[in-house]
Amino acid sequence: MVAQLIDGKALAAQTRKEIAATILTRTTQGFSQPGLAVILVGNDPASEIYVRNKRHACTEVGIKSIYHPLPDTTTEQTLISLIKTLNQDTQIHGILLQLPLPASINSDKVLEHITPEKDVDGFHPYNLGRLAQRRPLLRPCTPYGVMMLLNSINTTYKGRHAVVVGASNIVGRPMALELLMAGCTVTICHRYTQDLASHVKQADILVSAVGKPSIIKGEWIKPQATIVDVGINRLPDGSLTGDVEFHIAKEKAAWITPVPGGVGPMTVATLLQNTLTAAEQFQQ
Ligand code: NAD
Repeated sequence: MVAQLIDGKALAAQTRKEIAATILTRTTQGFSQPGLAVILVGNDPASEIYVRNKRHACTEVGIKSIYHPLPDTTTEQTLISLIKTLNQDTQIHGILLQLPLPASINSDKVLEHITPEKDVDGFHPYNLGRLAQRRPLLRPCTPYGVMMLLNSINTTYKGRHAVVVGASNIVGRPMALELLMAGCTVTICHRYTQDLASHVKQADILVSAVGKPSIIKGEWIKPQATIVDVGINRLPDGSLTGDVEFHIAKEKAAWITPVPGGVGPMTVATLLQNTLTAAEQFQQ
């Protein structure tokens, strides 16, 4: 049997439509348009594309995005003072600081200056702490998007074994917290994990967020598993691929996300959702 595709593009389009409708209702009722400040330091080509896509999505749903492109010579202090100004700006409900930052800037330190109420990426220790305590407010976008994908196919969580491969602060760790909150038994694998295959073989739900093509072998997939591939890798021919050996894995799994067209579009949709949530909490 061949796995069914989990269509992130379609779910993201549906989510954007719902967000746009909510924003229209809000503005008709006299509330201000949600505002997202987008900060890009330097001119990394991939970051420029991500920022353009996010701003385009904002326009589509009725979020006002205010762009702050800064040169790669920007100091940590300048960046922190811009963030402090935006924290006080009542027209701004969300602050997006596009990563990675130039090596001269300590991103953890800078991110902590974003007020948690405007931390629409969900990276602030306060928001991660809320998630860890099962009381999430603004949830890290990519794991939140994965949960929306899993919910869209009516995934059951309680009593099932979820294996997360990758343990970064922005994807793997919050992903494991989301799945734990949903009731899964969770295993987290990372670069020091021994015998990755033995863990993956036990996964009813597998989420891979490593960034290495074909690190997850198709033959490891448990029959009827649900596979979410967060990885984005560019092959020498320019095409994109995930972490999972898709063509073999899809013969064993029940559900699988494609790359591209799976998690990526949902990461942008959840950023919009978080900006709306931040604006709703502010209610002005
Ligand atoms: P990262 O480099 O910060 O983290 C990678 C993780 O993989 C680390 O925890 C590391 O320990 C683990 N790892 C490395 N080698 C391993 C191995 N051999 N076995 C098991 N684990 C191993 O990366 P990240 O920011 O978490 O992103 C991971 C991937 O997800 C990348 O491909 C990135 O492009 C992609 N990504 C996609 C989206 C999206 O919207 N689709 C969003 C964020 C990241």
